[in-house]
Amino acid sequence: MKTGVAAMTERTDCVVVGGGPAGMVLALLLARAGVEVTVLEKHRDFLRDFRGDTVHPSTLRLIDELGLGEKFAALPQSRLDQVSIPGEHGTTLVVADFRLLKTKHPFVAMVPQWDLLDLLADAGRAEPRFRLRMNTEVTDLIRERGRIAGVRYRTADGGTGELRANLVVGCDGRWSAVRALAKLRPHEYPVPMDTWWFRLPRRDGERTALTPGMRKGHFAVVIPREGYFQIAYLAAKGIDARLRAEGVERFRERVAEVLPEFADRTDKIESMDDVKHLDVRLNLLSRWHVDGALCIGDAAHAMSPIGGVGINLAVQDAVATARLLAGPLRRGRVTAGDLARVHRRRLLPTLLVQAIQRGMHRGIVRPAIEGRRNGPPRSMVTLLNLVPGARFIPAYLVGIGFLPERAPAFARRD
Ligand SMILES: Cc1cc2nc3c(=O)[nH]c(=O)nc-3n(C[C@H](O)[C@H](O)[C@H](O)COP(=O)(O)OP(=O)(O)OC[C@H]3O[C@@H](n4cnc5c(N)ncnc54)[C@H](O)[C@@H]3O)c2cc1C
Repeated sequence: MKTGVAAMTERTDCVVVGGGPAGMVLALLLARAGVEVTVLEKHRDFLRDFRGDTVHPSTLRLIDELGLGEKFAALPQSRLDQVSIPGEHGTTLVVADFRLLKTKHPFVAMVPQWDLLDLLADAGRAEPRFRLRMNTEVTDLIRERGRIAGVRYRTADGGTGELRANLVVGCDGRWSAVRALAKLRPHEYPVPMDTWWFRLPRRDGERTALTPGMRKGHFAVVIPREGYFQIAYLAAKGIDARLRAEGVERFRERVAEVLPEFADRTDKIESMDDVKHLDVRLNLLSRWHVDGALCIGDAAHAMSPIGGVGINLAVQDAVATARLLAGPLRRGRVTAGDLARVHRRRLLPTLLVQAIQRGMHRGIVRPAIEGRRNGPPRSMVTLLNLVPGARFIPAYLVGIGFLPERAPAFARRD
């Protein structure tokens, strides 16, 4: 990497901005298709706490198709077979049962996101056309004759440079710089809640299903992990400053009220610094591209944490993008029409998942955090109890999703 302050200009076929799940999958697939691809990632490593750690059956199938199944299986992980919701009178209602899916991996694997990204980065490095530059933040887009022709970046050591390319793909997440620089503005859907993430210790064999708690106006989702629980506390949007002002003692009480079985260990939340606020967003770009640049993953559509589908949608976007754009990139010319095809392919799955999430916000989250209900709506309970196979549908929608993508032939190593 060039150091110092002088700007340098380089060239590649495709610049991928951001090394999250969307960026790393896209870059690996394009490199396998014979496209010169460079990922610019602003952080020095992939280590980040409380990111999406759910790897769903459709992504597990893709990992197999890419020839990475064995390495993935060797990562530390836990498995979720079911999602359940507490009923009104201490009962538990299974709402999704992944074991009903006819697939090789009928479960959600809980894997630290950095392990997944490291795995993808290692696979990428085995491809001669793959480059990954950490500590490199995109700060501007290069425009030429009305078209995006590359990016300007800054490195952690103060260097700057320009990287020209036939295509810039913004995989830079929910606060995407590429999106803002390309003047693409997402439509924001109203969201009733924010989320506060923290950990509590988990004893051997304790709780294996993902089970939310709903009680007295509190809502929490407990995700069993290896040796600990990852817990999301959901409360009304915009009250982070108030929660912090109330202090850790009051936060522990809130947790104990919604999850009484954990009252014996809330002291493990030592201070509010252990509690990470997620400003929940649900948004969607009406146009995912301008000439020469495309946004995918969270950059095109931030998802609610409901269903934990963010990673998997981002990965599916990446596979569709690689499948549709590898040819144009190899030929050296990507048209606005090519980019529009990616948008058309991925719009419906995104819209449908967001519609379901908005329905869950209205029907389950809002009544719970406003203290109007301590369980799911009665109609949902009746449906799940009466309709055979009703637990298959949510499992399919979350685990496989609409229009699932398979690895293109050029990327397969199975
Ligand atoms: C606290 C939290 C919990 C979540 N839980 C879940 C879950 O359980 N399951 C799930 O599926 N999803 C979850 N999500 C959402 C999930 O993490 C995202 O949907 C998913 O990571 C999106 O992938 P992405 O590749 O589009 O973007 P990201 O994962 O956000 O990756 C973007 C990358 O771009 C980099 N970047 C940003 N700006 C620049 C720049 N200017 N230059 C260079 N690099 C840049 C960032 O450093 C980052 O590495 C959670 C999100 C959060 C914040």
